[in-house]
Amino acid sequence: MHFNYYMPTQVICGRDCVVGEGARLKALGTHALIVTGKSSAKNGALDDVLTALGQNGQRATVFDRVTPNPTVACVREGVALLVSAGADFVVAIGGGSPMDAAKAIATLCLQERSDEEIFAGGYEGTALPMAHVPTTAGTGSEVTPYAILTNDFKQTKTSITSPAMFPRLAFLDGVYMKDLPTMSAVNTAIDAFSHAVEGMLSRNATPMSDMLAKESLRILYPLLKKTAGKTTDDERDALLYASMLAGMTIAQSGTTAVHGMGYCLTYFHGVDHGRANGLLLGETLRLCREKKVAALEEVLSACGDTLEGVNATLDALLGRRESLTAAQIGAYAHASAQNKNIKKSAYEPTEAEIERIFRVSCPAETPEG
Ligand code: NAP
Ligand code: FE
Repeated sequence: MHFNYYMPTQVICGRDCVVGEGARLKALGTHALIVTGKSSAKNGALDDVLTALGQNGQRATVFDRVTPNPTVACVREGVALLVSAGADFVVAIGGGSPMDAAKAIATLCLQERSDEEIFAGGYEGTALPMAHVPTTAGTGSEVTPYAILTNDFKQTKTSITSPAMFPRLAFLDGVYMKDLPTMSAVNTAIDAFSHAVEGMLSRNATPMSDMLAKESLRILYPLLKKTAGKTTDDERDALLYASMLAGMTIAQSGTTAVHGMGYCLTYFHGVDHGRANGLLLGETLRLCREKKVAALEEVLSACGDTLEGVNATLDALLGRRESLTAAQIGAYAHASAQNKNIKKSAYEPTEAEIERIFRVSCPAETPEG
């Protein structure tokens, strides 16, 4: 057995933990840049963070202009505000978009890079300390060292990473998800599911990451269908916990083919990140069955379902699928085949197989009549 395990984020989980355990923020600095979208002002998370910082005598500047699929321009705007305000730490509140933007801001405020160099990697340096408050149960970004930004140079989404991008603190309270729109609840749960599954189907899976993924699937899979209806407080807490476990999984293993292909659907068609993964997951799993990938059987056993059952669950959640033209399928298969995530798959699909996955997942419109 040979593996590394590094998880430096302190996780604080429970009702009212942001205010109740907010004193933990004191160690991070004197002035916070709060990086968020608009929803945190409505779901209570922003008020709670401001209360906690106020109780500590810490100052706060709010940057609430992060929108889904954060861009380099958005990150630059955040860095400029952080510098002009004199902030010395970052608090992220929201889904994966604000959490990822916050990681990029906390990193890039300490080093000069051109827009293109941002995606060149080599982020061994430092980042400002961060605390993250997730308000969706999907990305697990609160416990990963990845920031995924829109990359217009390559017309995709690209992850930048460094151990310094692990948040110091993650506060988990499902209360903020009470009014999460159903579509967001479904799509983010599918993202978390995809992380746990892909983590197990990764070449970089380890005994520790598999343990986290199996526990995530045990909790998450039975709740997946429920996200399409009204969930209880306990179920939302469980979803948030399972999403974090899936985040800890990919912090070790990375994501694989499904994420690598999904970025095309998001970049070119605006398909929500979790939905993009869900659309492509079913056929990817069928390919793994054909190729006799042993880890697939462990995934199914953790779910307590068959391959057909898992795919039926996904189909029910996804509803009508997006269509792609033959030209789009060819172009996206070609682009995805170069994606570094594909190479992390336990079975690395060929370009022809990637094309098949797109074709089955997003079938061309059939002419009427
Ligand atoms: P998101 O883009 O952060 O948010 C989606 C929508 O949900 C936004 O309109 C947001 O509103 C709203 N929202 C968030 N929390 C809410 C709440 N509690 N109540 C009501 N509305 C709420 O979605 P996400 O799926 O969480 O994140 C997706 C991003 O994360 C993608 O860019 C993806 O690439 C990335 N990702 C990162 C990792 C990682 O390890 N770093 C892993 C997987 C995915 P506002 O914008 O108004 O706040
Ligand atoms: Fe994801």
